[in-house]
Amino acid sequence: MGIFNKRSDEQAPLSTVEELRQMIADARMPQPVEHVASRELEMLARISPSTAEYTIGLTYIEYLISLPWNSRTTDNLDLQAAVQKLNERHYGLQKIKERIVEHLAVKILSNSRKPSILLVDDEQIALENLKPVLEKEGYDVDTAESGAAALCKTEETLYDVVLTDLKMKHVDGLEVLEKTKFRNPEAQVIMITGYGTIDSAVAAMKKGAFHYITKPLRLDEVRTVVRNALDKRFYFASSKGSVLCFAGPPGTGKTSLGKAVAEALGRKFARISLGGMKDEAEIRGHRRTYAGAMPGRIIEELRRTGVMNPVVMLDELDKVGTDFKGDSASALLEALDPEQNHSFIDHYLDVPFDLSRVMFIATANVADSIPDALKDRLEVIEFPGYTEDEKIDIARRHLIPKHIREKGIAGVAPVFNDEAVAMIIRDYTREAGIRNLEREIAAICRKIAVEVVSGSNHGGHRVITPECIERYLGPRKYYFEVADEKNRAGVTTGLVWTETGGSIIFVEAAEMKGNGELILTGSLGEVMRESAQAALSYIRSNARSFSIDDDFFKYRDIHIHVPAGAIPKDGPSAGSAIALALLSLLTGRAARRNVALTGELTLSGRVLPVAGIRQKLLAARQAGVRAVILPAKNSVDAAILPPDAVRGLDIRYMDILDDAIDLVLE
Ligand code: ADP
Repeated sequence: MGIFNKRSDEQAPLSTVEELRQMIADARMPQPVEHVASRELEMLARISPSTAEYTIGLTYIEYLISLPWNSRTTDNLDLQAAVQKLNERHYGLQKIKERIVEHLAVKILSNSRKPSILLVDDEQIALENLKPVLEKEGYDVDTAESGAAALCKTEETLYDVVLTDLKMKHVDGLEVLEKTKFRNPEAQVIMITGYGTIDSAVAAMKKGAFHYITKPLRLDEVRTVVRNALDKRFYFASSKGSVLCFAGPPGTGKTSLGKAVAEALGRKFARISLGGMKDEAEIRGHRRTYAGAMPGRIIEELRRTGVMNPVVMLDELDKVGTDFKGDSASALLEALDPEQNHSFIDHYLDVPFDLSRVMFIATANVADSIPDALKDRLEVIEFPGYTEDEKIDIARRHLIPKHIREKGIAGVAPVFNDEAVAMIIRDYTREAGIRNLEREIAAICRKIAVEVVSGSNHGGHRVITPECIERYLGPRKYYFEVADEKNRAGVTTGLVWTETGGSIIFVEAAEMKGNGELILTGSLGEVMRESAQAALSYIRSNARSFSIDDDFFKYRDIHIHVPAGAIPKDGPSAGSAIALALLSLLTGRAARRNVALTGELTLSGRVLPVAGIRQKLLAARQAGVRAVILPAKNSVDAAILPPDAVRGLDIRYMDILDDAIDLVLE
């Protein structure tokens, strides 16, 4: 030991350093990471434990050790069992479950084929040693004694994994890597390197090699790396471009279905809410040079689950946006993109971490608001909200039994009859999902629990009828907004689509003395304002055909107002409702409150189709609307709705605004 290496009392105790060294060896990190960890440890050994650097270095090494570099759960690939699990936890959502089952089926198929491997080395003895080892693992193993021979073979056969020596005469490992990747991008290439050629190994990684192994070969390591490469190869094939994104209003089961998927697959589950995040560093970590630096949430969640292949739910992906500090979208992209995510860089870790085995599921209220670059990577599955019948079914099969169990009132076995559940839905909730419904059911179960404890229940079996509901929940919270109101001139009922599902709005128009100005107030977004202007222009340019005086606008101001309440997703679908409010005002014909309409209006009076028909119709029914007028082109959307979504609704269609006039105006 040289004089400079002599230990002083100020240095880290040998036992700690030795312990850490052993822990690093046990953590089964990829070699480049192990290299970094060991280097840090060497530095640590030379500084005093009382310094800040020591603490920072120690925390870092311990963090590296604690990450799940290699541990993972085995997927449950039994389709029947998975389907059963999904059905047990969730009612309906058939299309979504089908998609998940497809995902599994692809995985099972690709797993049942014997993987093919090509070994390339110009030393015959190396080939002879490795071949039987890999064959014993159940692979088809082919060999090539030179880089050139390997190139011929990869031209004929699509291997899953190519294991090649880096240093060979004529055609070297790098060339084999490049040509193989060019012909078959999904093949995984592992480099075998001699001692001291770390730099070229790193260069190979940059060119797309899966990993490198240094000589002398440890068979255990070869087996593990090959197995990981195959995993990647098949994962790549089964999941390319298919990060699922569940999009829909709150309470429609997105999060809980994500959890159920994890359970069906036998994977761990983690959830990252992007909604409240303000800074890219929350996703990707702070550099270690910052005081109090920490890893980002993605890495932290992986550490918490202790495996490298959990299901990670990225909640509220649509809230990742402009008010973020830094480029959060690109950090997420790096995590989600199968081309890049095998070497995700967290600023704190500063070494690549392989996220390719993670199954990401994103959620959003409105898929349209997700940044485009991210949306390209997603397979969006819509959760459109439940009909009343579906809600009753979910309540009966899932929510009520759950809360009876949780509140400990199974002894009195309360039975909710369907009318009572329907009453809760109609009078106490206004939502696309079932959050509030669940909350109200929980409240009733709590009240029953109090009755049981205080003895007022007499221990008897009880039936929850509509009469009980008001006693438990107090006066009704919602009324049929449209049914009880009088028809008036200048007020129409429109249907819009908000983040929380469909909603009705009342468009109010008023006129007053002035000089042709258009005043817009209330919850109107930018696009809606333009719709209002277009509607007014259409009416002005056709004033005569509506029997409106040409001079009318010269001496009048028009005011259009949409009372706040629901905050509509800004869109053009209120155009037709605004135009009819104006017509109603200007012709003095009262508009029917219980007739609602939706549709984008062009300057020539044509009505264009709009999105969110299912949500809008569900909201119309809930609000007590009798008739709905939709753009003619939306008839396909209405035709595929379940009968109970449109029960009691008279649905009419309009090609041009004129088609709707007599239906809406008295
Ligand atoms: P989201 O993530 O869409 O806001 P959640 O997953 O939090 O919704 O769901 C809210 C509640 O509703 C959870 O308790 C969930 O179990 C329940 N739930 C939603 N949809 C269903 C369904 N189809 N079947 C059974 N329970 C459901």
